[in-house]
Amino acid sequence: MTARIIDGKAAAATLRTEVAVEVARFTAATGRAPGLAVVLVGEDPASAVYVRNKGIATREAGMLSFEHKLDAETTSQADLLALVDRLNADPAVDGILVQLPLPPQMDADAILTRIDPDKDVDGFHPVNAGRLATGLPGFVPCTPYGCLLLLRAELGNLSGKSAVVIGRSNIVGKPMAMLLLADSCTVTIAHSRTKDLPAVVRQADIVVAAVGRAEMVKGDWLKPGAIVIDVGINRVPASEPGKTRLVGDVDFASASQVASAITPVPGGVGPMTIACLIRNTLVSAARRENFKLENPL
Ligand code: NAD
Repeated sequence: MTARIIDGKAAAATLRTEVAVEVARFTAATGRAPGLAVVLVGEDPASAVYVRNKGIATREAGMLSFEHKLDAETTSQADLLALVDRLNADPAVDGILVQLPLPPQMDADAILTRIDPDKDVDGFHPVNAGRLATGLPGFVPCTPYGCLLLLRAELGNLSGKSAVVIGRSNIVGKPMAMLLLADSCTVTIAHSRTKDLPAVVRQADIVVAAVGRAEMVKGDWLKPGAIVIDVGINRVPASEPGKTRLVGDVDFASASQVASAITPVPGGVGPMTIACLIRNTLVSAARRENFKLENPL
């Protein structure tokens, strides 16, 4: 079997266009555009690229992007908390995102839990984790939500499917498992202590790999016809000396011979993450203004 490639770039472009249509309706009706505040502390080059791309996507969707770039040396934890308080109180700000990782002298949990849960468009606040676990409306972390949208587009109804999520982080693995459970999958969460991971993975109709280990999941671990969502982003040496390339947590060459559909890296889950961020910002603005979206996205 040669797997169908799930085109996350195309799915993300469609979602971004749909968000932009609703943003235009929202702005016409309320007289203001939804606003996303992004806070970056320090000079981490990967974080700087993410923040830039988030700003571009926000503006392209017709929303306002408020970017706060702070110096890692001179910004204290108290300064950052004060900024979060100001953004919480600012009526023009519908979503607040503090880019991780934060410098080591800062307590990321303290910062993230200071964000108003109703502006927490990253969905990392424990209140939103609890809402997801109990089925209440809240904000779902963008990467797992993007994975869910790709799976729904691929399968339609996920009910009764057997799903294995590899990884139990608060950002990807755990919320992914909650989302699959809410869509009535039978969910197994595998992690670094799981015994005989290949046998566990072989049970699954749906495999979501969120581990951070290059090409760990092999084709012969998969049930023939499984759908594979590869969240991993790993930089490995390229064949050209001194160059690197990105690979996922799944060995694409062997997995694509066994799966029925698979996301590539890059071009799979990654683009959906930003699309879901602007989706969450629009949803936040709509909730705050009591505005009904025509497209529930
Ligand atoms: P993390 O390090 O917080 O968690 C990794 C998880 O993998 C842990 O729960 C651990 O138990 C599990 N694990 C580690 N080794 C294992 C093994 N040998 N067998 C089974 N499980 C094992 O990572 P994370 O933040 O969840 O991210 C996971 C991957 O997804 C990373 O490659 C990251 O770069 C990527 N990621 C991508 C996006 C995106 O937008 N595409 C977003 C977030 C994370």
